[in-house]
Amino acid sequence: MADEADIANDYITNAISYALDKWQQNNSKPGAKLCIDCNEDIPEARRALGLSRCIDCATEWERRGSLFA
Ligand SMILES: [Zn+2]
Repeated sequence: MADEADIANDYITNAISYALDKWQQNNSKPGAKLCIDCNEDIPEARRALGLSRCIDCATEWERRGSLFA
């Protein structure tokens, strides 16, 4: 059986992880806002996938990558 200290401890742990989740949602959106190669804005859809290059640079990067593969 959980006593009051355990309940309080669980409550604090939950509160901290909730706050951390919120903070991460606000401060570290997946992917970069700007392309790491050309500094152009990356479309929201690509950012949501955690991609850090714009479409042009990603295409170029993949093309170069396949040359050296
Ligand atoms: Zn780019």
